[in-house]
Amino acid sequence: MKRFDPMEAMASIRHEFGEHGGVNMSIEASTTFTVMQAMTMPEIFHGLRGPDEGGCYLYGRHYNPTVYALAHQLAAMEATENAYCTASGISAIAATIFQLCRTGDHVVASKTIYGGSYALLHNFLPERSGEKTTFVDAGNLDEVERAFTPRTRVLYVETVANPTLEVADLPSLARIAHQHGAALVVDNTFSPLMVTPSLHGADVVVHSLTKFVSGSSDIIAGVVCGSREFISSMMDVTSGALMLLGPTMDPRVAFELSTRLPHLGVRVAEHSRRALAMAELLERAGLAVHYPGLASHPHHERLRALMNPGFGWGGLIAVDLKTLERANRFMEHLQLNEKFGFIAVSLGFTDTLMSASASSTSSEMSEEDLAHAGISPGLVRISVGITGALEQRLAQLENAVRAIR
Ligand code: PLP
Repeated sequence: MKRFDPMEAMASIRHEFGEHGGVNMSIEASTTFTVMQAMTMPEIFHGLRGPDEGGCYLYGRHYNPTVYALAHQLAAMEATENAYCTASGISAIAATIFQLCRTGDHVVASKTIYGGSYALLHNFLPERSGEKTTFVDAGNLDEVERAFTPRTRVLYVETVANPTLEVADLPSLARIAHQHGAALVVDNTFSPLMVTPSLHGADVVVHSLTKFVSGSSDIIAGVVCGSREFISSMMDVTSGALMLLGPTMDPRVAFELSTRLPHLGVRVAEHSRRALAMAELLERAGLAVHYPGLASHPHHERLRALMNPGFGWGGLIAVDLKTLERANRFMEHLQLNEKFGFIAVSLGFTDTLMSASASSTSSEMSEEDLAHAGISPGLVRISVGITGALEQRLAQLENAVRAIR
């Protein structure tokens, strides 16, 4: 059976030409759009006549042609019926949870997720909206199943977990969620193109487009991908979380991102090629390295079964140097002495970015929760860049390994 190719899927949808026949789409900056027949206004307003149903774009928070075109490309990439682009990854996640849960409802979430998502589910939503979350080891299916209650509406995981790079068993998690009438929501930020969660049972797929999709660490953006019905419910003028919380994407941002999608595949494959070579080097040096492309990674075969061919095993590596002091020495050596990359949070940039997760992007978690999630103070997350020659980068990495011996 031919495997799904997300690049092919994106190239297959209708090309959006610019207003004057430009090869790129135009940036439509208007926030309000002319209704040609006054009598159609109520239907347009209530989402019954969208731009594809003879209606119009109405207002920028509903639809904008530039943002709408990007959403179509991202829906094609994620093999979902529809998508809505947001101002950030975290707003895509928050709006999705708000839409699926009411006061008193329950979420089962992996204990190893991005720190901001953890804080949202652990602190903000329980305190502000009365929704509760049970955090589980998503790799332990019995524990996942046991955590469900009659009020569970969402099972929330990341395809490849931030920062430990565990890989979610999406088909099994989807089965459990669906048996309990809950939705499987998957954050696919670490594995765009590599894995298409909707083909493995995910109901909603969210991304921080800030990372690999942008690729240049210059844009904050996100997307929610799901069924036509779900996206419409999020845009409902009386009860939609996207409509009423309003994390709308700016059309200028949508244009920028649309110009980067065509080379996302080339970039992801190159991030992956380099990350594999570096992970192999770190493993040969005897360090505790987590990279799903290594045969020694416990989820190597699981990811092989999930992945779309041609994009590799991902651009992130985690190496556990045990103490923060050693992690800092390693990163400073790489930044100052080797010019290998930068000590900075975030990922998916052209240059390499390094951070100690426990004291940065996972520091929303308590010491106990960090230990429980396997995030030691010395765990360094490396988002492998695509600049410089690979041989040069490997030599620099080898020098840093020697420097911390
Ligand atoms: N999801 C993951 C896995 C992330 O790593 C991040 C940010 O680091 C987010 C979501 C949040 O994205 P944003 O910063 O675009 O809001």
